Amino acid sequence: MDLKTLCIHGCGTKYDTTGAISVPIFQSATFAHPGVGKSTGFDYSRQQNPTREYLEKTVAALECGSDALAFSTGMAAETALMELFSPGDHIIASDDLYGGSHRLFRHISEKNGITVDFVNTSDAAGIESHILPHTKAVFIETPTNPMMQVTDIAAVAEITKRHGLLLIVDNTFLTPYFQQPLKLGADIVLHSGTKYLGGHNDTLAGFIVVSDALLSEKLRCISKTTGACLSPFDSWLLIRGIKTLAIRMEQQQKNTIKIADWLCSHHKIKAVHYPGLRSHPGYSISKKQATGFGAMISFETDSENTAVQILERVEIIQYAESLGGVESLITYPMLQTHADIPKEEREAKGINERLLRLSVGLESADDLIADLKHALDEA
Ligand SMILES: *Cc1c(COP(=O)(O)O)cnc(C)c1O
Repeated sequence: MDLKTLCIHGCGTKYDTTGAISVPIFQSATFAHPGVGKSTGFDYSRQQNPTREYLEKTVAALECGSDALAFSTGMAAETALMELFSPGDHIIASDDLYGGSHRLFRHISEKNGITVDFVNTSDAAGIESHILPHTKAVFIETPTNPMMQVTDIAAVAEITKRHGLLLIVDNTFLTPYFQQPLKLGADIVLHSGTKYLGGHNDTLAGFIVVSDALLSEKLRCISKTTGACLSPFDSWLLIRGIKTLAIRMEQQQKNTIKIADWLCSHHKIKAVHYPGLRSHPGYSISKKQATGFGAMISFETDSENTAVQILERVEIIQYAESLGGVESLITYPMLQTHADIPKEEREAKGINERLLRLSVGLESADDLIADLKHALDEA
């Protein structure tokens, strides 16, 4: 089935007999048993809930996985994922990651005895030299946040398979509509469902998707034990958001291409990072492994002053954390998403006082460009 149809009709499972077109919100903490030792398949909502199950099956189908688990946030999903590892284990991660992932590894995982090395995974071959006897996984984000570096998923999968490591891909930026890492050899896909899957800046969610039965069993046990599951109502919001995922991704990408081209031509913009630009170093790998480039751009202004003035003068675009929704949002990675990363490390990656990140929404591209022009020309 085409992804466009799958987004709208989901996994197709019916949980009620009324013919309701919209999946009901089963707002129940617990479920009665038909007899001693018997179950309807639903016992307690931390473990299973029909609304959440419908969503999980839908996300698993979109990512070509066998199972998906829905969590209350992307970080809750990542925290549960880290429970697969034990003290003494070592993980190799992209050196340009979502700030929260970096903080989780540095401040929680390391305290729990798991060591993490941050390396430039856009150089896939370079990963091999960082593998230690106790390395268990490679964790990548592609494109990365905020520098939009692209990692060759299949090339990394070849290395992780050869060394018996798990390959984990945070697929938040492109979503399964544009990129399906499990098909490229990844073992685990991670999502902040708060972003494009939800799509409306109105709810938080996270997902882990796998295609291996043993991994699914381990993660189900972790999830029911640690308990950060997605609520029935938020599950329903995600089901509703996903219905328009395809059309949103297409249109937001179209807007982004227009805006990226416009930014490239402005004299106060010194660099534009968007994998859809032919000049981007990840352009050809993106073409090979994804069907789209997404709708995230970062760009460098000529001065700190210009960056600050853009943030203060945009009117349609809003200065706020997060991304992937219908509303365009602009962030200052240095002060917001990446504030906890040590200064030298941050600056070495190009996350400086001149860098802004733009999540392009569904407004008219012309209005968005006019908004940026107004903010820049006065700057
Ligand atoms: C937002 C984000 C997360 C964290 O997700 P939350 O839903 O905010 O907890 C993880 N990875 C990426 C790439 C993100 O953008």
